[in-house]
Amino acid sequence: MSKIETICIQGGYVPGNGEPRQIPIIQSTTFKYDTSEEMAKLFDLEKSGYFYTRLQNPTNDYVAAKICQLEGGSAAMLTSSGQAANFYAVFNIASCNDHVVACSTIYGGTFNLFSVTMKKMGIDFTFVRPDCTDEELAAAFRPNTKAVFGETIANPAGVVFDIERFARAAHAHGVPLIVDNTFATPINCRPFEWGADIVTHSTTKYMDGHGAGVGGAIVDSGKFDWTKYPDKFAGLCTPDESYHGVTYTQRFGLGGAFITKATAQLMRDFGAIQSPQNAYILNLGLESLAVRMERHCYNAQKMAEFLQSHSNVAWVRYCGLKGDKSYELGRKYLPNGSCGVLSFGVNGGRAAAEKLMKGLKVIAIETHVADARSCCLHPASSTHRQMNDEELLNAGVSPELIRLSVGIENIDDLIADVKQALDSLN
Ligand SMILES: *Cc1c(COP(=O)(O)O)cnc(C)c1O
Repeated sequence: MSKIETICIQGGYVPGNGEPRQIPIIQSTTFKYDTSEEMAKLFDLEKSGYFYTRLQNPTNDYVAAKICQLEGGSAAMLTSSGQAANFYAVFNIASCNDHVVACSTIYGGTFNLFSVTMKKMGIDFTFVRPDCTDEELAAAFRPNTKAVFGETIANPAGVVFDIERFARAAHAHGVPLIVDNTFATPINCRPFEWGADIVTHSTTKYMDGHGAGVGGAIVDSGKFDWTKYPDKFAGLCTPDESYHGVTYTQRFGLGGAFITKATAQLMRDFGAIQSPQNAYILNLGLESLAVRMERHCYNAQKMAEFLQSHSNVAWVRYCGLKGDKSYELGRKYLPNGSCGVLSFGVNGGRAAAEKLMKGLKVIAIETHVADARSCCLHPASSTHRQMNDEELLNAGVSPELIRLSVGIENIDDLIADVKQALDSLN
C-alpha cells in the first residue's frame, strides 16, 4: 500500500475478521482492567495500551496512524487544534531560556503564539524572512537555539518555504526543522522528503475539509538523531523523573521518542486532546483528501488566471502563476499543485475591496480557509481591523488585499460570481 490515494482511504486502520469496516468511535474516557498490576505497567510505559483518553484513545490513534503514513513519518499524534500542535511541537524540545528560529511569514495565530505567549514562557524567537540570505539565516542561530520553524505555504501570504535550504541550515546547527504543512497537505508536499524532521498540521483546514471540526496533528520523521546532542535535547536523552526515569530515546528509539514524550508529558499536563468523535469526522475528510486537493488546485489555478485577466484587479498572488515570487519554489516543492488559497488586490483600495466582497453571492465571507466551500476574507476590515493603512502595510497586508479560498464547487459558477462582483465596481 504505497500510493497516497490508497493510504487516504485505507491507511491507519486494518480491521480483523468480522470487525467494523469503518474506524470505530471509541467514545469512552477510560478503559477497564482486571488487575492493578496490569494498569501499573501502562502507567510506567512498560506496556502499550489504553487507560485514559487524555493520553491516548484508539480512534485518535487510527487517524494519527493514517496521517503518519501520508507524511511518511515514524509516529504521530492528534491534538485539539493546529495551535496546540504547533505549541506542543516546539515546547517538546524548547523551554525557558531557549531560542527558536522561525520564518516571518507564518500564520498570524502561530506568530502570536510564538512572539507573545511562548515568549512569556521564556522562549525567544528570531523571525527571518523566507528569502533571507544564507548569511542572514546563519546569523539567526544562537548557542541555545533548539529548532527552526516554517510553513510549506504561508497562510495567507502564499509564500513557498525553501524546505531544503532551511533544513540544511537547521542541521548544520544541530537542530531539527519543524514544518507546518497545513496548506500543502501531504498530497502535494511531504516535507520529510526534503529534510524536515517534524511536521505539524491544522487538520481544521484541508484534512477535515468540510468546516466540521477543529483539530491538529504532529508527525515525527524519526530521522533527527537527538542522541548526537544529549545536552541540548536533555528532555529526550536523559531520564524523565516524572515518568519513573524513562529515557525516551532509549526506550522508544529515534522513531518513537518525540511523540511518546509529547504524549506522556504535554498531553498529560496540558490535555489538548481531540475528541474521538472529531477524529472520526477528520478521518472522513482524509478519505477524500487526494481527490479534493486535485480539484482545489485546478479551480484555484483557473481563478488566479481569470483574476489576472480582469481590468479591475491590480495584482494576484498564487504560486501557480508564472512570474509569481514563489513560482520557481512552487515548481520544485509542489509540482502537482499547491492549494486552493490565493490573494488578490482590486483597484480602488479598501473601499473597492469591501464593495466587491458585498457583491459576492456564491462565495461567502468567513474567517475560515482551505475548505470545500469557497470563502473569502478582507483582513483590513476584519482580522486586521484595528490597524491603520500604514500598519497594515508593515504587516504585509495591503488595504485592498482579499484572501480567497477556492473551494471544490464548479469553477464556472465561482468565476461568474467573482466576475459580476468585479464588473459592478465600474
Ligand atoms: C489555521 C492554521 C493554524 C491554526 O490551526 P487551528 O486548527 O485553527 O488551531 C496553524 N497553522 C496554519 C498554517 C493554519 O492555517
